[in-house]
Amino acid sequence: MQITAIYPGTFDPITNGHIDIIARAAKLYHHVIIAVAVNINKTPLFSLDERVALVHAVTTEFDNVSVMGFSTLLVEFAKQQGANVILRGLRAVSDFEYEFQLAGMNRRLSPDLETMFLTPSEQYEFISSTMIREIARLKGDVSSFVPPIVGNALTEKFNQEK
Ligand code: ADP
Repeated sequence: MQITAIYPGTFDPITNGHIDIIARAAKLYHHVIIAVAVNINKTPLFSLDERVALVHAVTTEFDNVSVMGFSTLLVEFAKQQGANVILRGLRAVSDFEYEFQLAGMNRRLSPDLETMFLTPSEQYEFISSTMIREIARLKGDVSSFVPPIVGNALTEKFNQEK
């Protein structure tokens, strides 16, 4: 049986923490689809196309990883793509409550789709896209938290905003 895992998120922008999870998943599953959400609840800094392009640019080394944008219900998108697993990253206890609720709801919506969690290496546990955006906005150094291409995209974005 081929196992396809779908890794959904906003990826605004992708960080070294996300990449750590992707690298682990690429070794475990036959195929990993990174599903970049349009996300109408948050107003993303980067457009969907920009987020997809950045994810793509930093994951080319993984042969079994692909990237797609989506704007529908996650379980529907997963079904369409033939995925059997929803993959989520857990950083800290603070992630748990939301993730537990989300996994429960997705199971109600689609009982055959299993949610699985991976934890990143401890040096990435404290990285969130929200914090990275804040640091970059205030001209701080994000080079140890995101790949260079993402760092450059952040610098460009905040220079444009001035
Ligand atoms: P964020 O919560 O930073 O806005 P996303 O919506 O892009 O991130 O998150 C997609 C998934 O990746 C979620 O399951 C989230 O918990 C996980 N994730 C985010 N940052 C990290 C990290 N530093 N290490 C491990 N998992 C992470």
